Amino acid sequence: MGVTIHSSVPEHALRRLLARPAGWAVWQLPPALRWYVTGVITLAAAAAGSAAILTPWRARDALLFGMLVSFGGLAVEMTRAAKPLPGLDKDVHGIWLLPVGLLLPPVYCLLAPVVTFGLLQLRTRRTIAHRRVFSAASSGLALCAASLASGVLRSRLPWPGTGARALLWLLAAASCALLWSAANQSLVMTAVKLSDPTASFRERLLTREPLLTDACEICAGLLLAAAIAAVGAALLIPALPLVIMLQRSLRYAQLQSAARLDAKTGLMNAGAWRAEATVQLARAQRTGSPVALAMCDLDHFKAINDQHGHLAGDTVLAAAAATLRAGLRPYDLLGRFGGEEFTILLSGSSAAEAFAVADRLRASLAAQPISAGQSCEPLRITVSIGIAATLDPASRDLTDLLASADAALYAAKAEGRNTVRIADDGTGLACLPSELS
Ligand code: GH3
Ligand code: MG
Ligand code: MG
Repeated sequence: MGVTIHSSVPEHALRRLLARPAGWAVWQLPPALRWYVTGVITLAAAAAGSAAILTPWRARDALLFGMLVSFGGLAVEMTRAAKPLPGLDKDVHGIWLLPVGLLLPPVYCLLAPVVTFGLLQLRTRRTIAHRRVFSAASSGLALCAASLASGVLRSRLPWPGTGARALLWLLAAASCALLWSAANQSLVMTAVKLSDPTASFRERLLTREPLLTDACEICAGLLLAAAIAAVGAALLIPALPLVIMLQRSLRYAQLQSAARLDAKTGLMNAGAWRAEATVQLARAQRTGSPVALAMCDLDHFKAINDQHGHLAGDTVLAAAAATLRAGLRPYDLLGRFGGEEFTILLSGSSAAEAFAVADRLRASLAAQPISAGQSCEPLRITVSIGIAATLDPASRDLTDLLASADAALYAAKAEGRNTVRIADDGTGLACLPSELS
């Protein structure tokens, strides 16, 4: 249904928030993001006000709305024990919202997310209030667009149809559902991009898991809307356990993925990286294509912790990881090896190509001051990198490559840091790039 970034908020936060509007976290956002978030919320509120005036209120619509938000609320309640994971979550609560968009006038679309997101805030993990309000506003506006489109379609294609007419309705409803999903994702991703320009639209929305989740949510929402329109709202009852199971299975997928990730940097953790690297190395051994492994270690990182504290250190770690990720090809395998060390497997790269990549990463880290909070000046960090490269992957295994890259890293440190060194293919001794054959 949406993308929410969580953080914990102390108890009684709601009461305190309402008492001190000047202290709302939304005012601390960077100007562009602040304008965008408040603009979307204001637009949704204005749309709700206008729709309330223009809507011909009907008891049937109000009853269906009441049933959909009640079942949506029940689903929130029945899945709340499995608290969402910290970080970026996706859920399938939109299954209850999509029928609102497809079957009811726009005013209900703007109200339904207020109930759902309000319950999520009160009954599951609390997040910063303006994020929930923004999520409700963007979801409401997106549903509103779907409702307007489906209103036009329903006036031309009355329900319920059979045969070709039913198929046509389904196609039309599916287009409205896609419109809802696309509008919602665009509104949310714009906010994510404004808050973190390095955020990848492709990674967050267009990889296997988020695509599968969105497809499930849209299909289930469509089925529910079709069942309500054809048979009646009583079908919400058998739908409830199915949706709850879907939400739980999503949780399982999230846990699986979380177990592979390093929480501080969002990169693969050491175990997951090793498993993936083993697979990629085996592929290189089969195809005989070259492979290189880079071991990166931040320079004098302990001094950053000592001078600015471990939280600033964590911020620097995350920023360094993001810089490394941004400087690599999508298929280069980057992981956090441990502490302030990162490993990169560069499939298909010769020693000279790996050196060029590593030196580019080194230069971009050195050139980019990292903001670690308002209390200290932007911090500068450098990295030393050791590379092991081979044109004959069949003769090396992963442990062997790691040991060579580590030896080259020690040579880079000994050279004075902020530098890249390459291990000799056979011995692991460091050599200068000019010595490459
Ligand atoms: P060198 O240039 O030789 O690599 O020096 P260094 O200070 O980077 O290396 P050293 O091994 O002495 O210190 C590494 C430091 O990294 C010590 C440890 O406290 C810190 N560290 C390891 N993991 C984390 C982490 O997750 N967060 C923070 N903030 N610090 C970490
Ligand atoms: Mg280290
Ligand atoms: Mg270090």
